[in-house]
Amino acid sequence: MKQVSRTVQAPKNLAIEVIGVPEGATVELDLRLESVMEGVLVTGTASAPLRGECVRCLEPLEQRCEAEFQELFSYPDADDRSRPVAEPGDDAEEEDTFFLEADLFDLEPVLRDAVVLSLPLQPVCREDCPGLCPECGVRLADDPDHRHDEAVDIRWAALQGLAGTIRDGEKDDQSGAAPDADEKQEK
Ligand SMILES: [Zn+2]
Ligand SMILES: [Zn+2]
Repeated sequence: MKQVSRTVQAPKNLAIEVIGVPEGATVELDLRLESVMEGVLVTGTASAPLRGECVRCLEPLEQRCEAEFQELFSYPDADDRSRPVAEPGDDAEEEDTFFLEADLFDLEPVLRDAVVLSLPLQPVCREDCPGLCPECGVRLADDPDHRHDEAVDIRWAALQGLAGTIRDGEKDDQSGAAPDADEKQEK
């Protein structure tokens, strides 16, 4: 068994839409490498800075991500049937089969899965972020006592009244048309 620490630069697209590790940022890796029958079992943690935006108020935010992972990297000849997919590629990733290449292994797909799965889907700048005003879009955390004139509500009430009148008018037309149709049928 061997314990190693490494720092690497974050690869591209270590992110989801709202948050992620900026490309080139320092990722700290603590790894435990264990020799097992089939290959090398790698257990580790990755720590990296995150940059994104709050899903409620859209302010930029910074956090840290701590992701854990464990993966077996097999010797290329451990399973003959798997040899054709031993080259790094999407197929190898989908089958979750990783291989040692000489004395090396490619941690990137494992790191990517672990980090991306650890990202918050709904990052917020703070747990109780009140978000944006639905009327004008102002950030409510900056202006908690913020409110709008009731005049806005009165104007809406007037529009709703108007909509009601139009609907009543339509009903009248329909009831007026019905007797005519009856008369035609009688003739
Ligand atoms: Zn926020
Ligand atoms: Zn407002």
